[in-house]
Amino acid sequence: MSVALTFYGAAGTVTGSKFLLETGRARILLECGMFQGPRELSERNWTPPAVDPTTLDAVLLSHAHIDHSGYLPRLARDGFRKPIYCSSGTADLLRIMLPDAAHLNEEEAEHRNRTGATTHRPALPLFTVEDAERALALVAPVAFGTPFSPAPGVEASFSLSGHILGAAVVHVSAAGRRLVYSGDLGRYDVPIMRDPEAVAEADTLLVESTYGDRLHQKDDATRVLIDAVTRAAKLRGWLLMPAFAIGRAQELLYRLRELEAAGRIPELPIYLDSPMAIQATAIYARHPDEHDPETARVEAAGQRPFAPPRFHLSPTVADSKRLNDRSGPVIVIAGSGMATGGRVLHHLERRLPDPGTTVLFVGYQASGTRGRALRDGAKMVRIFGKEIPVAATVLSTDALSAHADRDEIVRWLKGFRKAPAMTYAVHGEPEAAAALVLTVTRTLGWPARVARDGERIEV
Ligand SMILES: [Zn+2]
Repeated sequence: MSVALTFYGAAGTVTGSKFLLETGRARILLECGMFQGPRELSERNWTPPAVDPTTLDAVLLSHAHIDHSGYLPRLARDGFRKPIYCSSGTADLLRIMLPDAAHLNEEEAEHRNRTGATTHRPALPLFTVEDAERALALVAPVAFGTPFSPAPGVEASFSLSGHILGAAVVHVSAAGRRLVYSGDLGRYDVPIMRDPEAVAEADTLLVESTYGDRLHQKDDATRVLIDAVTRAAKLRGWLLMPAFAIGRAQELLYRLRELEAAGRIPELPIYLDSPMAIQATAIYARHPDEHDPETARVEAAGQRPFAPPRFHLSPTVADSKRLNDRSGPVIVIAGSGMATGGRVLHHLERRLPDPGTTVLFVGYQASGTRGRALRDGAKMVRIFGKEIPVAATVLSTDALSAHADRDEIVRWLKGFRKAPAMTYAVHGEPEAAAALVLTVTRTLGWPARVARDGERIEV
């Protein structure tokens, strides 16, 4: 019996992951991601998938990020009724992320209809909150390291990838063939999450390549955080940190608490102004089994790892608006991470013209976003249709990435006892994927190449 795999999405791009595994008896979808980014890519969400959802036996999910999970509501809407297997941390995060993604979709369709900005009449959401609930009802959490059978003749299990809470490396075997998919790989020696677990063997390996051509700077994050907080304290101003709700916000809270405890920065009031980040932080706290030894020590000492001493939550819009009158020094963490939307826009609108304000970007800023413009030194940005002058100091660091860089991917690959028969680079821009393949063939001597969209391979 042959075991075949077809790459749909995330081959030559970083989003839209969907890999179809077929044996003579089973059809399983590995990942169910949404295409994100430029229009020609996001339009692909509207092309009917090459896989008929009603013919699938199961979905296996590496982690909750929307580029890996966001198409699930549409799959459920189009007739998929079988289990969605993932870790329990991923299941918890999906419960906040899928309804939120659906809500944004509905809002956007409504906005297009209201303003006439649509070629489709009426503009429809890709999926609704109801579709998201339909998908969530299919979620079947499985513990890390516990083998399960997603379909007849197929065995699977998850191991820790360390990328975000719940993130897994997916292991599948059928007909004596072993497929391992890295999902998104995390980093080594970073706060909160444990290091990616080593994998012993695979016949076919799919490895992510987001940072396959880059190295993260070391220690940069601590220095930049200290600079930013010290500056806010001295100027008695705001330190505003646009941050992603899942992963980044928790790491910031963890690092701020550590730096305060070590006396390296003053204890300032810290506001978490994001309902999604507040919920995600609670989910992170509920899964101590995934925390690294350092975080476990903090918890064993009776401390809350994500709650600095002067920590406040702003769950409601009214809470967020009350912050407007808050004078510094104060630290406010609000989404979105690239300042493309969310509550951080209101704060930026008010605070950017104030030279006493410090803005700190802690993640990748895609070109074309407000975050990128500010990071690159824009003196004026457009927010809510108004030109806002930038007198604030804007700082940034890329060192808080949740993705393994080139050397960290290679470190994980070196954990294999022998070379997989073939390694495919997935989930990366073309240059990054090609660079990783070169590294793998040159430094490890393994056969490797970049996966092509629509390509079908034998496992
Ligand atoms: Zn991810």
